[in-house]
Formats: sequence, C-alpha cells, structure tokens
Amino acid sequence: MSIDFTNDFASEKDLLKPEFSLGDEAEFSLRPQTLPEFIGQEKAKGNLKVFIEAAKKRGEPLDHVLLHGPPGLGKTTLASIIANEMGVNIRKTSGPAIEKPRDLAALLTNLNENDILFVDEIHRMNRSVEEILYPAMEDNEIDIIIGQGPSANSIRLELKKFTLIGATTRSGQLSAPLRDRFGVMLKLELYRPEELQMIIERSSDLLGIAIDKGGSLEIARRSRGTPRIANRMLRRVRDFAQVIGDGVITRELANEALNRLEIDQLGLDAIDRRLLESIIINYGGGPVGLETLSATINEETVTIEDMYEPFLLQQGFLTRTPRGRCATRLAYEHLGIPFDGKNGSDNLLEGQQRMFNE
Ligand code: ADP
Repeated sequence: MSIDFTNDFASEKDLLKPEFSLGDEAEFSLRPQTLPEFIGQEKAKGNLKVFIEAAKKRGEPLDHVLLHGPPGLGKTTLASIIANEMGVNIRKTSGPAIEKPRDLAALLTNLNENDILFVDEIHRMNRSVEEILYPAMEDNEIDIIIGQGPSANSIRLELKKFTLIGATTRSGQLSAPLRDRFGVMLKLELYRPEELQMIIERSSDLLGIAIDKGGSLEIARRSRGTPRIANRMLRRVRDFAQVIGDGVITRELANEALNRLEIDQLGLDAIDRRLLESIIINYGGGPVGLETLSATINEETVTIEDMYEPFLLQQGFLTRTPRGRCATRLAYEHLGIPFDGKNGSDNLLEGQQRMFNE
C-alpha cells in the first residue's frame, strides 16, 4: 500500500508558523502550569521569581509586566503561570479585541483585588482605549464619560488593585506613555536546541509519544527556536512514525519526515530559502529594503519581520542595516551559492570600513 502524505499535512508554511493556528488546540494540555515546569528563559524566569516572591511577601499585586518577543515563545503561558504562582485569577483578552474605551472599562471594573488582566498584542490597542489604561495602571482609577454632547459628564471610578500583563511581538511600537507604566519588562529569546529538546520530551510524555534522544534532538534543531513549532512538528512526525515506522520517533525517522515536509537540516523552510535566495540573486546579497523584498517574494512585511527574520538573524543568515537586509556568507554557503566577497553583509562592512579609511 502506498500512502500519499501530500494532502494530509498542511503546507510547510503552516507547520513553521509561530502563531497559534487551527490544530494547535492540543497545546493547551501541554502548557506548563508552574514556573519550575517552564523550561528555558532562565533570565526572565529568575527575575520573575524574585518579583513574585517580593510581591507575595508584601501582600501586594505584582507590578505591571510587559512580555516581549517573537510569537510562540511562551508569553501567554508565562502570564498564566504568574497568575498561578500569585494565586489570583487571570482574565485574557487582546489589543484588537478591545474596540471601545468602555469595553476596557468593563473589563477593569470587573476585576477582583490583585487579579491579572492579560492583554495579548498590546501594541495593536486603539489609542483611545490605551488612554484609559494610563490612570488605571498608575492610580487604580479610570475616568468614564456618561451621556453625550453638552450634558456629558466625566466621573471617576476607583478600581481594585490589579496587575496588567501585556504581551507584544513589537515592543518598539508601544507608545512611550504606555511602555513607561510597566514596572517589569521581560524579553523572551529564541530557545536553544537543548531546551527545545527538553520541551519535546516533556510533551511526548504528556501525549504518550514514543521518542528517543536522537529523535527529540532532531526535531529540536529544526524548530526555529520556538516551542509552539516544536510541539507542532512533534505531532506531525508522530504521524509519520505511526504510518511509515514502528511508532517510535528516532533520529532517522524525524529526519525523513522533516525532509518530506521540506524543512532543511537547520530548520529553514521553502520561504526562508526563497527570501535569502532573492536577496542574493536579485539584489547581489543586499542591502535591500524590506518593502522591496516583500514585493519580490510576495510575503507581507509583517510576516517577514515577525515570522522569518528573528530566526534568520539569530542563526546569522541575515543582517539588518539602516540601508536594508543583507545575506551573510553563511547564507551563501548554506544555499550552495559561491560567495566572492563582493556581496552581502561582508561587502557592506567593507564599504563602511572604506568610508572610515578614506
Ligand atoms: P506566545 O503567547 O508567546 O505566542 P504561548 O505561551 O502560547 O506563546 O506558547 C505556545 C506553546 O508553546 C504553549 O502552549 C506551550 O505548550 C509551549 N511552550 C512555550 N514555552 C514553553 C516552555 N518554556 N516550556 C514548555 N512549553 C512551552
């Protein structure tokens, strides 16, 4: 019997998408509930532990927290963990979901003492809504307008003490007054393969998946530093293990499955490769502006910035300069394109060096 997998799996683009998408519901059961269960991010975790303990000792709510970093790294998970560790309730919403100031006022007035309000994608909050947050975060009060026109009245409402946890992939897009009101800012970094391997092993245990060390490391190395992608790949590779293997995920099996899904040895997918190839072939290695690149490869600029660049930058395939994106020597080598030293980021550095020397 021959089995055609082509239609069973979403495209590799979906597989590597760090955002939450259909089919990811299974990850709810994989979410760590406590700080020790949360793997990696030692710096953020260490700081958070101190702040939580101090707030608990004082019997006060935690200071407002801003979590920033690429999608799928655990911002929502950490927010729930903070609520668990503080022993308080958490109410979750997102910037674009709060349409009017009164929607936010309703959320805030319904919070109990020390509760947490989690706002995902807080950089996408409407400015008129955001302004309600300033006095709420600073003085636990909000001003609401009752009535319309000349008879409209502004009344001040006292709120219970609360903690706002904001999550964003773009801290640079947050307005200064909002950013300044967060007492704690935690940046989440892409995970190292050993950390992802631990996450994959933990998920395999929870889902009853048989996997050996070689299998978990292979998936870890190819999941772009992102736990959401690692968990998603694990489920897809398990399907292969059950159909073309004996049910156990080994290194060979993971390798075969991921090759079929067009994810290369370093975790780059077809779009990553197209992006780098385009910089190299169409623009002599760069620099090329984001808008131009976006038009050339037919992907939106936000998609390039949020989904593709963080990993390519971290892996050293790409550099970002004021004049645009450049492919590095490593990118040429990975794609098997000869590098003559006159292109890509080396060229730009040389150019800058020449400017200094002249
Ligand atoms: P974000 O809010 O940053 O997009 P999530 O908190 O939704 O990311 O995390 C995505 C999934 O990845 C979670 O459901 C969880 O299963 C897993 N995950 C994230 N970080 C960790 C971690 N440090 N340890 C274990 N699993 C994690």
